[in-house]
Amino acid sequence: MKQEQVIVIGAGIGGLTAGALLARHGYQVRVYEQAYVAGGCASTFKRKGFTFDVGATQVAGLEPGGIHDRLFRELGVESPEAKICDPACAVFLPGETEPIRVWHDRQKWQRERNRQFPKSEGFWQLLNSLFEVSWRFQGREPVLPPRNLWDLKELIKAVRLDTLITVPFALMTVGDALRLYGLDGDRRLSTFLDLQLKLYSQVDAKATALLYAATALRVSQAPQGLYHLYGSMQVLSDRLIEALTKHGGKLYLGHRVEKIHREGTKVTGITIRNLKTQQIWQEKASHVIGNLTVQNLVQLVNLPNYQKRVAKLPPSSGAFVLYLGVEAEAIPSNCPPHLQFLYDYTGPIGENNSLFVSVSQPGDGRAPTGKATIIASSFTDVSLWWKGSQEEYNQLKEKYTETAIARLSNYFQLSPEMIVHQEAATPRTFARYTARAQGIVGGIGQRVSTFGPFGFATRTPLANLWLVGDSVHPGEGTAGVSYSAATVVKQILSS
Ligand SMILES: Cc1cc2nc3c(=O)[nH]c(=O)nc-3n(C[C@H](O)[C@H](O)[C@H](O)COP(=O)(O)OP(=O)(O)OC[C@H]3O[C@@H](n4cnc5c(N)ncnc54)[C@H](O)[C@@H]3O)c2cc1C
Repeated sequence: MKQEQVIVIGAGIGGLTAGALLARHGYQVRVYEQAYVAGGCASTFKRKGFTFDVGATQVAGLEPGGIHDRLFRELGVESPEAKICDPACAVFLPGETEPIRVWHDRQKWQRERNRQFPKSEGFWQLLNSLFEVSWRFQGREPVLPPRNLWDLKELIKAVRLDTLITVPFALMTVGDALRLYGLDGDRRLSTFLDLQLKLYSQVDAKATALLYAATALRVSQAPQGLYHLYGSMQVLSDRLIEALTKHGGKLYLGHRVEKIHREGTKVTGITIRNLKTQQIWQEKASHVIGNLTVQNLVQLVNLPNYQKRVAKLPPSSGAFVLYLGVEAEAIPSNCPPHLQFLYDYTGPIGENNSLFVSVSQPGDGRAPTGKATIIASSFTDVSLWWKGSQEEYNQLKEKYTETAIARLSNYFQLSPEMIVHQEAATPRTFARYTARAQGIVGGIGQRVSTFGPFGFATRTPLANLWLVGDSVHPGEGTAGVSYSAATVVKQILSS
């Protein structure tokens, strides 16, 4: 057994994965989580017999050989029971009653997109080729962006001759590729891409890095896919906690890390507060892993140059999320588990003009018999929610809730007697329960200037202080943050 002490700040999927893997390798791991429930943006809460997924509702990387599947095997715990989402999403554009269905089967999706977006197949084939190469490259777990010779060696090890075909596309956006194929005037296609990409990249098609989009737009088809978990999203964290404790690691809920200590260029430990007793103490560690946004990291440790880089980032999005517990009759028959609605072509995507909706499935453990859950989220500017009085905040929340319910009523039967429970989360709610600075969610955005090689690294300027989570490569999503955790573990094992 190694005696090296590792402290993990945060029990999101990134922190739990890193902690469990290091515990399996014999490190003494302690995970500190400020909330009383683990899982961060992929956790749940219960009300009146309903279980609501707080943020994440669908999971990539559970297929055989996918990142979650591989890590669960390595950790010696069972993969959670899950069902493939098919279609992965049904997208309704303004004024249209028939959705664009993103099918799991590749041929079926090809037929659907050819019907929906005539003359666009060349563009999709380009994305497909870039995806195939990028996926194989990511599967070899490159360290991106590299910060020392070892990282560079790992990056080069992951490169094959075919990887080089992606190089000319590394500085292109989806907007550039649309122009290349003469599709930039196709409003339906660019709106569909805006809607789908915003979910993953935080930005619209014009700004999303093409190589990132190639993966985001293709990951829902076979042999990959998006999965709906039985029980709730919490089972993902439950499995990781099982692995952590099985390998001797410890999880402390209700403990907030208030400071990261450094001596010269090396991390030495942390200051921690037990939120129940308010007791504060310091702990030393050989490695500290922050399951933190970069904006949170710079609040905990003095890193002047890093802080300047963080301050220059374009603003990150927040989320407004409406959680409804409803009678089952509120849901139309054959309703897919995930839908996306855009209500008005002229409005921005986000701020309630578009909603991403997840609906529970009969017997999936989220609602009592005869009932269902509907969770609808939209992106929002976080600054809207932090100005003004408490009363103004309450009014804004009420306005967003009413608008979302009115809009959802175009598809669901949401008369008052159908709604058993309703509740909403704003950036303030996310800031409180996930501690993310200002309640920002979903990482730093996947523009050309901030994705992959140009993004933030898992290594920080301080030796042995590491970052996992959706601020670093390959970005947001439970699968993405698991990759970042696996990278940090490789880096620590090599050090
Ligand atoms: C509305 C919404 C919908 C989403 N939908 C999906 C989806 O369908 N599929 C998908 O894959 N992804 C989705 N995502 C994104 C996904 O949830 C996140 O990218 C991912 O869960 C982030 O994991 P993480 O480990 O990086 O961090 P987090 O989930 O943010 O976890 C970090 C943890 O650290 C704790 N912490 C922070 N600071 C401290 C401190 N100082 N001391 C102690 N603890 C601390 C927090 O409390 C938190 O538990 C969605 C996100 C949102 C908000």
